[in-house]
Amino acid sequence: MFEDLRGKRVLITGSTAGMGLAAARLFAQHGAKVGLNGRRVTPESLAAVDELNKLGGEAAFFQADLTKSDECERLIDAYTSHFGGLDVLINNAGGLGGRKGLESIDDALFDHVMNLNARSALMVTKYAIPHLRQSAKESGQTASVISTGSIAGREGGGIGAGMYAASKAWLHDIHRNWVKEFTKDGIRFNIVSPGTIDTAFHDDKSDDLKGNIANSIPMGRFGTIEEVAPTFAFFASHACSGYITGQILDVNGGQIAP
Ligand code: NAD
Repeated sequence: MFEDLRGKRVLITGSTAGMGLAAARLFAQHGAKVGLNGRRVTPESLAAVDELNKLGGEAAFFQADLTKSDECERLIDAYTSHFGGLDVLINNAGGLGGRKGLESIDDALFDHVMNLNARSALMVTKYAIPHLRQSAKESGQTASVISTGSIAGREGGGIGAGMYAASKAWLHDIHRNWVKEFTKDGIRFNIVSPGTIDTAFHDDKSDDLKGNIANSIPMGRFGTIEEVAPTFAFFASHACSGYITGQILDVNGGQIAP
């Protein structure tokens, strides 16, 4: 189904764990050239490179803390120097960044959450654009930017997660702007919007709370990272989604996404 991913140059930010790593595994299985990224070099990130290479892909790890614009630029330089270009960018790095109600939000939380979820995707995409434009021009196929949004960006988020939800809504919206600016260059922009997926993102929650959340989901459970990964592959594949841009695909077990 995803045959045209073979040899595609794919960079996935925030891919040392969770959904990013599951997506990286799927791309590697289909023969892609996968760039892994995380804030730090860890034994796990290096082990992930070995794992992806054994799955049939060609993988490399690029350390960069994407809350900083200069590191976003350095990441794109490092990936494109290594693989000779870029066909697919997945902006997946992100996180809650802290839980605070409105009256407790300060400049530090605002800056941290926006840097982690908004600045990171904006700056990585900015520096990726010339390479994606080149990819589309040379291949005659669309290049693709996919960002991980969130159901929180559609429904406002839980109490204390307002900044996080707003940063994801910001991401959903700026994609619509990029569609207007870059469709002429053969670049597509789509959002994968997960509901509640079983990753380290939920490590701060008690088992009781997780049970209550699961019961509120029509499917009665959290999603798995493997259930999200194919949506990234779908948007990356020109054959599967070459006429789809500016869309948000919800992966949420039936939760209502306004
Ligand atoms: P995760 O914590 O397992 O993965 C987060 C990844 O981002 C890790 O690889 C981490 O190293 C990386 N990262 C964090 N800060 C970074 C930084 N400053 N620079 C570079 N990389 C950084 O969590 P996950 O649930 O797989 O999250 C992936 C994405 O999905 C995030 O954008 C998150 O907001 C979003 N999301 C998660 C859920 C969920 O229920 N798990 C729901 C909706 C959206």
